Amino acid sequence: MAGFFETRIEFLKGIGPQKAASLNKELSIFTYADLIQHYPFRYEDRSKIYKISEVHEELPYIQIKGRITGMSSAGTLAKKRIMAEFSDGTGIIELVWFQGAKWVVSSLKTGVDYLVYGKPNIFNGKINIAHPEMELFMEKSLDKGLHPVYSTTENLKRKHLDSRAIAALQEKLLEIAMPSIQETLPTELITRYKLLSKKEAMKNIHFPGSPRLLDEAKRRLKFEELFFIQLRLFMQKQMRKENFKGQIFRNIPLLNEFYKNHLPFDLTDAQKRVVREIYKDLCSGKQMNRLLQGDVGSGKTIVAFVCMLMAIDNGAQAALMAPTEILADQHFKGLKEFADKLGLTMALLTGSTKQKDRKVIFKDLEEGKLNFIVGTHALIEDNVKFKNLGIVIIDEQHRFGVAQRAKLWKKNVIPPHILVMTATPIPRTLAMTLYGDLDISVIDELPKGRKPIKTMHQFDKDRIKLFGFMRKQIEEGRQVYVVYPLIEESETLDLKDLMDGYESISRAFPDYALGILHGRMTPDAKDYEMKRFVKGETKILVSTTVIEVGVNVPNASVMVIENAERFGLSQLHQLRGRVGRGSDQSYCILMSNYKLSRDSKVRLETMVKTNNGFEIADVDLKLRGPGDLAGTQQSGVPNLIIADLSQDAVIVKEARKAAEEIIDKDPNLDSDENRNIKRQINSFSKNDLNWSRIS
Ligand code: ADP
Ligand code: MG
Repeated sequence: MAGFFETRIEFLKGIGPQKAASLNKELSIFTYADLIQHYPFRYEDRSKIYKISEVHEELPYIQIKGRITGMSSAGTLAKKRIMAEFSDGTGIIELVWFQGAKWVVSSLKTGVDYLVYGKPNIFNGKINIAHPEMELFMEKSLDKGLHPVYSTTENLKRKHLDSRAIAALQEKLLEIAMPSIQETLPTELITRYKLLSKKEAMKNIHFPGSPRLLDEAKRRLKFEELFFIQLRLFMQKQMRKENFKGQIFRNIPLLNEFYKNHLPFDLTDAQKRVVREIYKDLCSGKQMNRLLQGDVGSGKTIVAFVCMLMAIDNGAQAALMAPTEILADQHFKGLKEFADKLGLTMALLTGSTKQKDRKVIFKDLEEGKLNFIVGTHALIEDNVKFKNLGIVIIDEQHRFGVAQRAKLWKKNVIPPHILVMTATPIPRTLAMTLYGDLDISVIDELPKGRKPIKTMHQFDKDRIKLFGFMRKQIEEGRQVYVVYPLIEESETLDLKDLMDGYESISRAFPDYALGILHGRMTPDAKDYEMKRFVKGETKILVSTTVIEVGVNVPNASVMVIENAERFGLSQLHQLRGRVGRGSDQSYCILMSNYKLSRDSKVRLETMVKTNNGFEIADVDLKLRGPGDLAGTQQSGVPNLIIADLSQDAVIVKEARKAAEEIIDKDPNLDSDENRNIKRQINSFSKNDLNWSRIS
């Protein structure tokens, strides 16, 4: 019967080819499955009846019960309107129709009770309801309770597919679909988590028997959705663990030497814990696939280096990949110092590495003359070959596409261990659903002695004060970033903002050297500007978001963000993370217009209130929804039909636990209890094409 839901909607009674085409186009509804999963987006409570004497124009949609006591009309032709006087004994209200008047007149009766549903308005001092929904009152109309409201579009409404019509279609579909709705969860789970059956849930999500049944239907369907997403991730992880062996890196002589003699500071407890977790992975004989989450400035780089040493200590090579050239360059310089002390060989490979240098690097890598390499995406190109690549660390990236990961895996007979370090913390619920196939480590502690960054929100009129403050900081020996938004690196308009800003800052600070940095400069020019700032030759760096991630200049203590309202939260947090990296008190100043959208206001307030990246990520998730969170677009956030990762944390956890237990006990879903699950999983893989079409 699985085929039933793949039936095309034109075969449903009441949907002809034309309506079907509109539903395809407007709502991406192609099949019975698509239609039945077009759940209501809200419900109207039809159990309450208002007295007309209680009705005022500020009420939302309401229901009243009474009789028509008179009809009249006004205007002519196109402007014609029809009014009905409607009374329930407590008062009189006017019902108005502007169009379809003829039909109304002919179908309405006086002397019988109607239920009227609509939004009260005020017109000429009188309360009326325009184009109300009317139905003859019958005792049983009332216990219908909650009515579904479906999203639709203007085009669909013109084709007579308003919410009511869709409800009628759903009713028809449900009736014929009932026998084909199969349970997807094992009885044991349904009992343990007190879930509705699939059939009950489908019925009640469209036509709730009661508010409680609606809640339970929602919970059941959310649970199911989140359960299968996580189950599939666990299955992938399981499969990988079975199929991919990993090199074992147990020896740590260099690591010990580094730790004893060259480590510039004590690791935080969180850093130590994470190093241990990774070391355990590297000794396990399985390929590591780990995500390292840590707030900006929590010290991920040193952890990365220590892990690279584990590979090198066992005769393998290591690679560190950064998202930008500036960052790759910075890592290269930072790690070069350590490498020299330990007598290790390394190279830098980016898009702008000269052809003749490339040749040497490629050869040395392949012959094993280089212990490790730092670079950008250039590292994953096919012509980059290693003698024995043991570990790849991907810095400041939420997630690396599956295809890209696969490319890396092929670089060695035994696939390299992979550590992905995030740019910004990810809310837990999102991490679970998105990265369930990875192991996760968290650095939840900043190095000691850091002073929390002070963040302020200011307006243009405060600019003179701002310049005064910058000057004072520079006089104390500090440096300042001023960042302008540049949403698309190619937007000339934004570049103009940057240039104007640069001009006015030059005029205000004629006595100090400034630098400027943006994505359209040549790599050499960027490098030159960055170097001058790192060395402290320039005191102010006017820049676009090219410095957003990773850049580490501990002497910089002020981050000014212009047009801060145009940045997303995680971006603001990343930018702020460029300061507060040394022992001095640091400041982040968010400059904005007076006119702010509600969301911008929340973003700026959140920044002022907290320095905690995990908290910020939660707010971001609530504001934007998971699909828009930084870095998640390309990484395939599951396209959820009913669950909401920002609201349903409890269900995410329950479903995760359930999925984990099942895979632990029965990894291939062979047992009889799990046959429902297996059938569902198989139908997913068959329909994966459909899934991608929907998303
Ligand atoms: P992120 O996690 O943002 O990549 P970095 O690795 O760039 O952070 O580290 C930020 C700064 O903190 C660097 O200057 C680094 O040298 C320093 N740092 C890292 N770990 C420690 C530590 N345990 N104690 C003191 N300073 C540290
Ligand atoms: Mg970093």
